[in-house]
Amino acid sequence: MYDLLIRGGRIVDPAQNLNEPRDVAITGQKIAAILDPATPQVDAKRVIDVHGKLVVPGLIDFHVHVFPGVCHFGIEPDSSCLSRGVTTVLDFGTAGGLIFPGFRSYVIDQAQTRVLALLNIAGQGLIDSIGDPPRLGELHDLRHLDLELIQRVVDEHRDVILGIKIRCTANLAENGRNEAAALDLARAAADLVGLPLVVHSPNSSLSINHILDRLKPGDVLTHCFHGKDCGLVDDELRLADGVKTKLNEGLLLDVGHGFSSFDFRVARCLLEAGVLPNFISSDIHHYNVHGPVFDLVTTMDKFLHLGMELPEVIRRVTQIPAQFLGHEADLGTLLPGTTADVTILELQTGQFPLNDSEGRVEMGFQRLEPTHVFRAGRQFEVTPRPTARS
Ligand SMILES: [Zn+2]
Repeated sequence: MYDLLIRGGRIVDPAQNLNEPRDVAITGQKIAAILDPATPQVDAKRVIDVHGKLVVPGLIDFHVHVFPGVCHFGIEPDSSCLSRGVTTVLDFGTAGGLIFPGFRSYVIDQAQTRVLALLNIAGQGLIDSIGDPPRLGELHDLRHLDLELIQRVVDEHRDVILGIKIRCTANLAENGRNEAAALDLARAAADLVGLPLVVHSPNSSLSINHILDRLKPGDVLTHCFHGKDCGLVDDELRLADGVKTKLNEGLLLDVGHGFSSFDFRVARCLLEAGVLPNFISSDIHHYNVHGPVFDLVTTMDKFLHLGMELPEVIRRVTQIPAQFLGHEADLGTLLPGTTADVTILELQTGQFPLNDSEGRVEMGFQRLEPTHVFRAGRQFEVTPRPTARS
């Protein structure tokens, strides 16, 4: 007797190469079985019928900012992520070592959403980088980059800290003066604690090759489809030298849509050149949750619109991020025995305007809408897509 039977849907689980009608049985916090729909007499305490819908592993948003009340970027993970079908998020360095214990106590340990994190190279994280240009970027004063603090905090929270994050942007670093030294410190910090280095590069004063030279296999370049200075393409959309070699060696790319980092022209050009993101992520935060980001599924819609096949979109929000998080044995798949994180999606057809972060609007003809979400076997409420705010 199963606790729950999710009947009638089409399972899309790239980790199992599965894209066909199957029923999913859950007992307690685990996936108990994947059943052929023709299986006679399945006993379950509760049955939900999801005919016409997609049943996918609980979505993983690889790039979010969820430290509300402490960092001006922060949003609530449960109302902005879990309630939109996302069961696991990676906070992308909102907190540095000075405030990480608070992030752990007040967000990670409280949220129903599973929250994992990158540690910001700067002790204060993103808390004072307010305004444009930012009043005090995290690289303005290199005294904030304290390797001893990083080592201590990572040692204490190694179960949830999965990488070191640095934002290389000139106006976060004394008009670029500190960028090269800060990047070298970030490289040293990542090596010291044995974790990947994750770099953001839009509008860096460094060259993209300077940054790529300091990245190793397994490291991540985020905002891979931005069209600003220091991106993977130049003003004429030509791919920078050496990018393909770096990718072949194992450098990973993250979308990190955000309010200023997703350019349809760049995305289209790079996808056509075979430069695919490993992670499709929203970079959702306070300033983009009412557009152009809204939620993770809206970013996924943009990749369907750009021609990526549905299972490949799903793979980039389930299997691949689960691997990076070191959770491939229990998350990002519906394999029996794994944690019962399940998202039910409706693939709607119609006309859906899609905004990039440069003000361009393209018309999409399908969109994904979550209808049910289960985190470790427990069902949570799905809320409507956030509204646009002008
Ligand atoms: Zn971000």
